[in-house]
Amino acid sequence: SLKVPATKKTTTLTVAVKCRPLMRERGRDIVRVNDNKEVVILDPDLSKDYLDRIQNRTKEKKYCFDYAFGPDSTNLDVYTRSIYSVITGVVQGLNATVFAYGSTGSGKTYTMVGTKDDPGLMILSLHTIFDLIRKDKNSDDFDITCSYLEVYNEVIYDLLEKSSGHLELREDPEHGITVAGLRSIKVHSADKILELLNLGNSRRKTDSTEANVTSSRSHAVLEITVKRKQKNKYRSQIMQGKLALVDLAGSERASETNSGGQKLRDGANINRSLLALANCINALGKQQKKGLAYVPYRNSKLTRILKDGLSGNSQTVMVATISLADCQYHHTLNTLKYADRAK
Ligand code: ADP
Ligand code: MG
Repeated sequence: SLKVPATKKTTTLTVAVKCRPLMRERGRDIVRVNDNKEVVILDPDLSKDYLDRIQNRTKEKKYCFDYAFGPDSTNLDVYTRSIYSVITGVVQGLNATVFAYGSTGSGKTYTMVGTKDDPGLMILSLHTIFDLIRKDKNSDDFDITCSYLEVYNEVIYDLLEKSSGHLELREDPEHGITVAGLRSIKVHSADKILELLNLGNSRRKTDSTEANVTSSRSHAVLEITVKRKQKNKYRSQIMQGKLALVDLAGSERASETNSGGQKLRDGANINRSLLALANCINALGKQQKKGLAYVPYRNSKLTRILKDGLSGNSQTVMVATISLADCQYHHTLNTLKYADRAK
C-alpha cells in the first residue's frame, strides 16, 4: 500500500524566472548579433502591492514572481532557493514536477541539464536525493529509479534506449498512468545518472546547437522515483515520491496563440503537449487562488505522463527562462505574461 503524508490537499505552484546572460542571439529570431541591449530589469525591492498601484501609470511592464534570478545567477542559486525544499518533500513521499518554460534559446536545457561547471536542476536534484538518503539511518530501505523519455510530435520515445520505438500510455486502477515498456533504471549515485542523461540527450530529436523549427518541439522528461520500504512488527509499507524534471519544447508557438489571454486551443502548427500543459498550469494557478478548478490533464501525452506530479498534494515549480536582449523582447514578454498568469 502507498502512504503519502497528508499534510496538504492541493498542489502548490511556485514560479521562478531566470534570465540568461547576453550572448550572440541566434535562432529564428536573430535581429541583431552582438549589439543587443538589455531590456529586462530585476528589482528585488518591488512589492506586489506597489506593482498593482503603478501598473497603469508607466509604459514599462512589471511583474512580480516568487523568485527572480538575474544573469549572474548559477543553476545552483536557482536550485538552492526555489527547488531544494521541493526535493526534500519527494524523499518524504510527495510528488513533484519541475519544468523549464521559455522560448527556444532562452536557456531551458541549460537550466535543467546544465554543464559540468554549472550543473542543472536534474543533476542537483539527484545529488540532494542521494545526500538525504545517505544521512538516513535506514538508508538501505530506499530504492531510487530513473526513466528518461521524450515526447516529440505526440509520440513517446525512451531516451535510455539506443533506438527506441514508439511507446504507448497505459492506464489501470492500480498503477495509474504508465508508459508501457519504458526502461526504468535503478541508480546508486548521482554521477552515474549524469552519464545516462548525456547519452539520453544525445538521442533527443533536438539539440541545443540547432534552433530550428523541429528541434524546438521536443519535451524531455526525467522521472525519478524514490521508494522507501517501511517495516514494523505488523506489516510493511512502501512510501513513494515521484519527481518529474521536464525540459520543455520552445514556448514560442504557444505564447503566440496565447498572447490574447484566451484559453489555449490546438491548431495545426501548435505543440499539443505544450498547450495542454500550459492549460493545466493556468488551472492550477486558479485552483491555488480561488479553490477548486478543473485541471484538464487528459488532453495530451505530456500532461497524462505528468499527472501525478501536477495533482493531489504535489509541488509544482515552473522556471520561466528569458533572455535580457532587446531582440528577444517579444518572446520575453510572452513568457513573463504567461508566468504571471500562472500565479
Ligand atoms: P533552450 O533549451 O531554451 O532552447 P539552451 O539552454 O540551449 O536554450 O540555451 C541557449 C544557449 O544559451 C546555449 O548555448 C546555452 O549554453 C546558453 N546559455 C543559456 N543559459 C546560460 C547561462 N545561464 N549561462 C551561460 N550560457 C547560457
Ligand atoms: Mg533546449
